[in-house]
Amino acid sequence: MLVETHANLHHADFDDDIAAVITRARLAKITTIVTICCYMDEFVPALAIAQSDPDIWCTIGVHPHHAAKHPDLSVAELVAGAANDKVIGIGETGLDYHYNYSPRDDQIKNLMTHIEAARQTGLPLVLHTREADQDMGEILQRELAFQPFRFVLHSYTSGAELARIGAEAGGYFSVNGISTFKNAHPVRDIIRDIMPDDRIMLETDCPYLAPVPHRGRRNEPAYLPLIRDQLADIKGWNQNDTDQRTNDAFFQLFTKAVRP
Ligand SMILES: [Zn+2]
Repeated sequence: MLVETHANLHHADFDDDIAAVITRARLAKITTIVTICCYMDEFVPALAIAQSDPDIWCTIGVHPHHAAKHPDLSVAELVAGAANDKVIGIGETGLDYHYNYSPRDDQIKNLMTHIEAARQTGLPLVLHTREADQDMGEILQRELAFQPFRFVLHSYTSGAELARIGAEAGGYFSVNGISTFKNAHPVRDIIRDIMPDDRIMLETDCPYLAPVPHRGRRNEPAYLPLIRDQLADIKGWNQNDTDQRTNDAFFQLFTKAVRP
């Protein structure tokens, strides 16, 4: 059994064959899937997919790319949506200074709203960070010292220093197909040397970032075993061990999700 902790099943790329995608995931022994909400218009479609299957769950949140589209997003709105049984996390949110699709101030404000919603609900925060190590590190340290919350640094490709800050703060990490890319040595080094063995999870981030040998094509949850094999290789774990550790990490963090 494997847990796909970060998919976008409600993405238009899956409109034509979502049932087949889920069937292939099950054949690949992926029992549990989390579909991640990236802006508020996605929440209802993501929730509908989660409600269609006992082992699919969703989150509620606004990706940093879309922060400027939601200038008035409130903590109360996130908390109200998160009251649904199928909503197990807050996000994804974070900072993306690579694309800067939203101004940085909007991204930071958006992140702060999500942090407060994570505190109020007790649900974990799904954090995206790209080329924003300094600001994310400072915000995490400052806000965690003020009042704690739980979080995962998803699709981790940032630097070693932010990884150390996240690990020391009790954060979780999720590893995706980038770990299989030829030149991703820095990512593999951080996975091996810094990510805590009991706080690593697996994700595809589909339809994006397909692992080798599917790189460049549409990604889907059924490719998760390729990422598991890569993580096992990096950490020197056997397959069963890797499944067990990553599943346990998921259910420790996402306490609202029910084991199948
Ligand atoms: Zn992301």
